[in-house]
Amino acid sequence: MRGISSVPTYVVMQPTTLCNLDCSYCYLPFRAADKRMPVEVAEAVAAEVAGFASAGRFSVVWHGGEPLAAGREHLAALLAPFGEGVEHHVQTNATLIDDAWCAFFAEHGMRVSVSVDGPRARNGERVTRGGKPAYDRILRGVEALHRHEIPFSALCVVGDPRAGVAAELYEYFLTLGCEVLGINVEEQEGVNLRGNRHDPADVTAFWAELVTAWRRDPRIHLREVEWSLRYAGAVLDGTADELLPRRLDPIPTIAHDGSVVLLSPELAGFHDLRYGDFTSGNVLTTPLREILARAAETPWIAEFLRGVEDCRARCPYFGFCGGAHAANRYFERGRFDVTETEHCRNSKIRLLEGVLDHARDHQPTAV
Ligand code: SF4
Repeated sequence: MRGISSVPTYVVMQPTTLCNLDCSYCYLPFRAADKRMPVEVAEAVAAEVAGFASAGRFSVVWHGGEPLAAGREHLAALLAPFGEGVEHHVQTNATLIDDAWCAFFAEHGMRVSVSVDGPRARNGERVTRGGKPAYDRILRGVEALHRHEIPFSALCVVGDPRAGVAAELYEYFLTLGCEVLGINVEEQEGVNLRGNRHDPADVTAFWAELVTAWRRDPRIHLREVEWSLRYAGAVLDGTADELLPRRLDPIPTIAHDGSVVLLSPELAGFHDLRYGDFTSGNVLTTPLREILARAAETPWIAEFLRGVEDCRARCPYFGFCGGAHAANRYFERGRFDVTETEHCRNSKIRLLEGVLDHARDHQPTAV
């Protein structure tokens, strides 16, 4: 894997900066402001996406703020320019989901991912703008999805990864009825300045316990564990070099105003004296294809690519990790040409170690 691909596998669209919740770990800088994406931005992206979609499956991920806070009418207007070959996804806090939204998801074939951090007691960070717990509203949204038989994924933020937590979470998500589960260990990112350093043994034990819980009842596609097992399997059969894509996926994030931030959606809306606003262009003035073709000219991206090469040269986990995410390097260490971060320790290194610990502890005994 070297350099950045000029063809993304998906784009992230920000229909509004607004979020109706105010979670204490949120990284978004403008979540109290309702800056909406004009339809012209969606039209400009859709015109380019048609070409990407013809190269295979292509996804558009609607991500906020809270995308449903843009309202059904406006979101429908933003979806309208996209053609048949595009699969739409939405990442939502679920609090606004009702029967009408479920009908909207069904009509547009939209795939839904819900942010929920486990049982009620683990959702204390998730509060409304008035500071009230959001959990009951999240559950009402999930119940509506069940009523309408709309399958959904779940995304869970974990602030205290350690043994005991993983088994509880997995049991909860089995009951919640999601098809896919992603686990994000809380990151120090954007306006969330809380430290994310944990005892390595705790984090490894968390992941090992998650694998054990999953293997007891593997009804849910568990994103991180499936990645790790795929990598471990590829190492064993000698194909690990083929697992990472040949080039980095540029993951263009289209902000509400049409500006494009590549590789790390979390950088959108931030500004730095050295790197400027992190954008690589604006779809209202430059076709997305052109912006992608010149990606490596964006100064911070050139610096990030040097950091990835350093990871390749030094880190034994590179074949699994691929250099992780640009935003974590910047928000933790202030630059992009560094290697290890707390994020990569928590979510790449300890993850793989936890899966391997589980495998060591469950080796078949010789007879
Ligand atoms: S685990 Fe960390 S240091 Fe290793 S390749 Fe990934 S980002 Fe780089």
